[in-house]
Amino acid sequence: MSYITINKQNFFHNLDICSKRAKCKENVAIVLKDNAYGHGLLEISSLAKEYGLTKAVVQNIQEAKKIQSYFEYILILADTKKESLSHSFHITINSIDDIEHLEENTNIHIKIDTGMHRNGIAPNELESTIHKAIEQNLNITGVFTHFKSADIMSSVYFWQKSIFRDIKKNLSLICEQLNISEIKLHSCNSSALFREENFSEDFCRIGLAAYGYVENENPLYIPDLKPVLSLNTQKLSSRTIKKGQSIGYGGNFVASEDMTFSTYDIGYGDGFKRLSNERYFQINKKERTLGNTSMDNMSINSTREEISLFDDVRPLAKLHNTISYEILTSLNPSIKRVIV
Ligand SMILES: *Cc1c(COP(=O)(O)O)cnc(C)c1O
Repeated sequence: MSYITINKQNFFHNLDICSKRAKCKENVAIVLKDNAYGHGLLEISSLAKEYGLTKAVVQNIQEAKKIQSYFEYILILADTKKESLSHSFHITINSIDDIEHLEENTNIHIKIDTGMHRNGIAPNELESTIHKAIEQNLNITGVFTHFKSADIMSSVYFWQKSIFRDIKKNLSLICEQLNISEIKLHSCNSSALFREENFSEDFCRIGLAAYGYVENENPLYIPDLKPVLSLNTQKLSSRTIKKGQSIGYGGNFVASEDMTFSTYDIGYGDGFKRLSNERYFQINKKERTLGNTSMDNMSINSTREEISLFDDVRPLAKLHNTISYEILTSLNPSIKRVIV
């Protein structure tokens, strides 16, 4: 059976780097959406807890319920429900309408759209949103934003930052008038954290960097992160074909000489994106994929019982013309995760 290994030492190493940058562990909220970026929701939750993190970020309430016992503080990015939720849950308000879809006493973080134009209220809706939330007896526990291009070296990051700075000023005036306190402010994802000279918000939301990557053009600061996930596949059978015979669906890979190879137990049905004769993956100096990937099978010019397909996902992401996030989150949750 193909399986994934999660390298605990590397994960803790990355968390050391992030919590140092964010000043302490309390300031790091680990982002666990999409099965913890393919690493395994429960596996990563238990490791994060063991490391000493207390905050997590997920996409929906269902995920939050699964990891409730691991964290003291869980931010839910995009889900609402009219039911009484755990006091450790904090629901994101992405539009004013969300307020009506929540039960009294629910904790909320108001998300501000400072320029990404994906989710969140407009900056000039802050005051009306706060008033409406108070009318509905919701607890405002946070205000945050998200950068659209913290990984790109341009001024965009700075103008979003300056809009959020104005929001903070405005917020402190409103809070003073309304006697609200203890609102947590946050804006940084992984790339933004490594652009901050002197981190000073209440926490940061760290996904990719915890898993060992940062898509960051910043030449001034390249953190020494280590990939956490390796994908391994096992041999189903070996076979020998003659020169001129082909391998797999479509038969595009044609042997230029007699050759022995093996079929391995992974395919695009497992979330390993399909490769082809033209787009083949060079696994190491000697071994490469052959022909079209099947749903559950893939051929490699090897007879080894087990092959590690990657420790670092970047070359494969590059081959597929995509980003590490997509390859990692595509890995099927049913593949066994083993912590090493
Ligand atoms: C996914 C996500 C993050 C984490 O981003 P990384 O680049 O993986 O660190 C942070 N905040 C929000 C709102 C997100 O959706």
